[in-house]
Amino acid sequence: MTDSPSYWRKCSSCKKPIPFGSSYYVCSVSTCNRKRSQMVFCNIRCWDAHVPVMNHREASAEEKRAPSKAESEAHDTPSPRAGAKASSAGDVLVVASRVKSYIQNKSGMNTSASTMDALSSQVRLIADKAIQQAKDAGRETVMGRDIKQPEMGARRSNVVIRRKPRP
Ligand SMILES: [Zn+2]
Ligand SMILES: [Zn+2]
Repeated sequence: MTDSPSYWRKCSSCKKPIPFGSSYYVCSVSTCNRKRSQMVFCNIRCWDAHVPVMNHREASAEEKRAPSKAESEAHDTPSPRAGAKASSAGDVLVVASRVKSYIQNKSGMNTSASTMDALSSQVRLIADKAIQQAKDAGRETVMGRDIKQPEMGARRSNVVIRRKPRP
């Protein structure tokens, strides 16, 4: 079993570990700076040593700071829960593919992306009301009964709504 490394990366020149949060040097030459294989140097002498090896004609070093361990891990493994903390506004709360296929099956119509935003706002409104309802009832759990059923639900489909004749 391999433990997660206690250092950030290894120096491309002397192979000594560069600790998290310490400063390091990068080369200004683009071939040493590719995203996947960026060369990093623990000190300026290590950078200096690679210049003749790589046949750089013009090169400079730039000092940077290695991320902390936590930063590094957060960056390397984007967590699927990253957006969960900001669920108050703007997130799509409906399953877009299901909504699309429901509308498609029912009507043969297409569904634009903005529909999901509009539906999500409605879900938020309904959820907010349900939260209030549960609070008023002294509960800490939102339940199905806190959500107001649509007026034209299946149970009422056989109810004939009589309109008053206009005068
Ligand atoms: Zn080094
Ligand atoms: Zn270089």
